[in-house]
Amino acid sequence: MPSIIIFLYKIINRINISLNFLYYNTMIENEKKSDEYWKKKLTKDQYYVLREKGTEAPFTGKYLDNKEKGIYYCAGCGTPLFDSGTKFKSGTGWPSFYTAIEKDNIKEIKDTSYGMIRTEVLCSKCGGHLGHVFNDGPRPTGMRYCINSISLDIISEKE
Ligand SMILES: [Zn+2]
Repeated sequence: MPSIIIFLYKIINRINISLNFLYYNTMIENEKKSDEYWKKKLTKDQYYVLREKGTEAPFTGKYLDNKEKGIYYCAGCGTPLFDSGTKFKSGTGWPSFYTAIEKDNIKEIKDTSYGMIRTEVLCSKCGGHLGHVFNDGPRPTGMRYCINSISLDIISEKE
């Protein structure tokens, strides 16, 4: 191999290692965020839903009928979660989306609380509770991500 290629390869490899290191440190940092941190950062209602897995009352959330175009971010840590283009009217009382913006940005886990078998949806970065996902959604995915407005913050698309 010409030495210039070996040189570039080494640099790219070095950058990759530093990025991995940064990523790893961010993950550790997020795991360490204490209840105190979240109590300071979030409102009382946000804390109840995001950190204590509460549910906002149906038909009360600020994004239920929101038709703005944009990206919905995690209200806890700012991770992009849902695109307004995948939002649909479900009639359930909570904002509903048929898919997440990026599969890796959310975590789905089995939830057997309240005598029901449901799938809980969490922000994969901060572990904040977002809502639940059901398989009675519209095409193309057939999924319904039923998400608390209070767990989200939209950044509108500028026309
Ligand atoms: Zn988050």
